[in-house]
Amino acid sequence: MHVNIDSNYKDKTGAKLASQLIRKCVHCGFCNATCPTYQTLGDERSGPRGRISIIKDLLEGKPTSTDSLHHLDQCLLCRNCETTCPSGVQYSKIYEHGKPLMENIEKRQFWPRLIRIILKRFLLSKSFHISIFIANLFKFVLPKNLRAFLPNKKGYAISTNANLKKQNKNFNSKSYNILLFRGCVQKSLKPTINTATELVLNAANCKTYIATDSVCCGALEGHLSDKTAKLKRVKENISHWKSTIKKNKIDFLVSTASACSYEIKDYLNIDGLSEDEKKSVRDIIKITKDISELLPQIYESLKNTIKIKEEKIAFHPPCTLQHGLKINGLIEKYFIDFGYDIETQFPEKHLCCGSAGTYSILNPKIAGELRDRKLTNLHQTGCKQILTANIGCITHLQSKSDKPVKHWIEKLAEDL
Ligand code: SF4
Ligand code: SF4
Repeated sequence: MHVNIDSNYKDKTGAKLASQLIRKCVHCGFCNATCPTYQTLGDERSGPRGRISIIKDLLEGKPTSTDSLHHLDQCLLCRNCETTCPSGVQYSKIYEHGKPLMENIEKRQFWPRLIRIILKRFLLSKSFHISIFIANLFKFVLPKNLRAFLPNKKGYAISTNANLKKQNKNFNSKSYNILLFRGCVQKSLKPTINTATELVLNAANCKTYIATDSVCCGALEGHLSDKTAKLKRVKENISHWKSTIKKNKIDFLVSTASACSYEIKDYLNIDGLSEDEKKSVRDIIKITKDISELLPQIYESLKNTIKIKEEKIAFHPPCTLQHGLKINGLIEKYFIDFGYDIETQFPEKHLCCGSAGTYSILNPKIAGELRDRKLTNLHQTGCKQILTANIGCITHLQSKSDKPVKHWIEKLAEDL
């Protein structure tokens, strides 16, 4: 589609990039078939083709309305549409450049605006951890969508990190030095994931370092369209990681949340980095891995250590893993090799569960429908546990599942 870019946008980098990317779109609509919001709402403007048209109209200076922003807000940014586009349109990039321009023109109503401000301040604040503890005590008075966000005891199978010191001893020159990025909300919502990661990596002869001075990867502020705050966090992380990697001869920077892994690997696409920072990012990206990408390295050391408990498992691949990082079937393959009874195929495996960062709080109705749909498909496998690879999916699915929902690394740690 050709974009007759309006003179107001001719000098704006984001607008120019979005209009170049839109040119590849031939308006065929194949992408609608894999879009969860189009499938749920059945409205052209709630699908990728419609959203691209909304952004195109904006760039051409045509009239917009609060509805235009509303339809963009309903996008999960799951990137499923990119997997079915025959023209290779990078929808997510069009969206990321186009949405802030729409937000400059159209304003949300008071409550959605306030919730966004609170989320930004609260989720990344130092008091988040203590607030989670207090919120847990009084969760019966919280609104349902906020209650669903709290940790659920069903997932807490690893209760201690007492073994960590013991395991962190006998490393040799062949050990990998791993810098662990623990994320922002994960360490409060489900600290067992970080404990489990250390246990498993140590058992696989990897020496672990914690990136304690790291801040949020920037995904959260990106979701809430705060580019300035995101850039600040990214710069802080680059500076911290650069020195830690050098000092400790780090082989890999590892994240256990696929959303963070994707975000870090996408740092080069962020506007506002200096040439020096871009060079550091290139070096960092080279050694950045989602924890699943370490499976080929650690499998041999673990294969005789894992004691399988006979239990059917279903694996839900997060969108950031399957559509963002394009890691498909890797975790399932290694779980089969370990000897687990894992269900790898079930209906609508490619569809988002509705979590999508802060989406489940901002759009609880659609998120709830998608979660229920996902859980129906997962439960139909007859599984006793659901494994996945991202903290958002875990808390969102667990809020309605009577079966434990865990990170796959927790499962390995339990079975060591
Ligand atoms: S499938 Fe691709 S080319 Fe077709 S409408 Fe969607 S984004 Fe455009
Ligand atoms: S990113 Fe996901 S929700 Fe958004 S348009 Fe694409 S498929 Fe639909």
